[in-house]
Amino acid sequence: MVYRFGLIGYPISHSLSPWIHERFMEKTSTKGTYSLFEFAQQTPVEEIVKHLKSINVHGFNVTVPFKQQIMTFLDEIDPVANRTGAVNTVINKNGKWIGYNTDGVGYVRSLQDKFPNLFKMTPRRALILGAGGAARGIFTALVQVHFDQIDIANRTKEKAVAICRHANNDSQVLSFEEAEARLADYDIVIQTTSVGMKPNIEQTIITKEDFPSAVIYSDIIYQPIKTKFLQQAEKSGAPVHYGHTMLLYQAQYAFEIWTGKKPDIGMMDDELEQILKGR
Ligand code: NAP
Repeated sequence: MVYRFGLIGYPISHSLSPWIHERFMEKTSTKGTYSLFEFAQQTPVEEIVKHLKSINVHGFNVTVPFKQQIMTFLDEIDPVANRTGAVNTVINKNGKWIGYNTDGVGYVRSLQDKFPNLFKMTPRRALILGAGGAARGIFTALVQVHFDQIDIANRTKEKAVAICRHANNDSQVLSFEEAEARLADYDIVIQTTSVGMKPNIEQTIITKEDFPSAVIYSDIIYQPIKTKFLQQAEKSGAPVHYGHTMLLYQAQYAFEIWTGKKPDIGMMDDELEQILKGR
């Protein structure tokens, strides 16, 4: 069997997904292609769907701006994607299109790989900075792996309240000032805002210099690899977790949904780091 995979979105010409999935195909001896299907932002999703059906793709990834819009055109949506409110992976199962969101599970897998001891701790307490699409997926996944406390700080408080309400647990919503004062109350602090992303690499959501060093600091931004937030954490002597590992593991989960094979990540995080540093 020769698979046909791809990515829809705009702009996607710099996407790392073809590299990642081609490596996965190599590693699992799977025959196939992974193409970029770039459609202008205003393209009606009906048109995109028509095209993908005509070329009979086996599965595809979805990125900005189509992650929500695609949901109307699917035959089935996985409960996690429903809760997250966005689909980033679709499988064509004998003509039936099923949507998933692999961000949260990918994030947790990357954390389990790098910080296995975190999952042996009780209680486990996380603070998420940001309440956008990625934060929503990560929140859902942390609930699934039984984090005891998951608080959220966001500029727009209502968005954080909406995520917490959805999960129906006793999560707290904080301001960034409150979050900054309470970093030591958590085992991990996860930075999911777009603050600090290239080209604004001097920006950071937490302004104080000294971070409590017993906490893991994670940033899901991967351009740059080492954000100002992670630099502050490292300077304070704290452990850090990089965003490009999430990118790999969310892709691994997508590949698994499409093919039933779970490729070994191996040294791919080092390889990806080198690619990103060269950009
Ligand atoms: P999103 O839905 O647009 O959410 C953006 C978040 O950033 C919101 O919480 C927003 O706050 C906050 N924000 C933006 N500008 C801000 C500012 N100036 N001050 C304070 N908060 C600000 O985006 P997303 O899809 O969640 O993605 C967020 C980041 O994660 C992006 O950098 C993206 O590249 C990265 N990401 C990485 C991976 C990976 O695999 N590593 C996967 C997905 C996303 P408001 O709610 O107040 O607007």
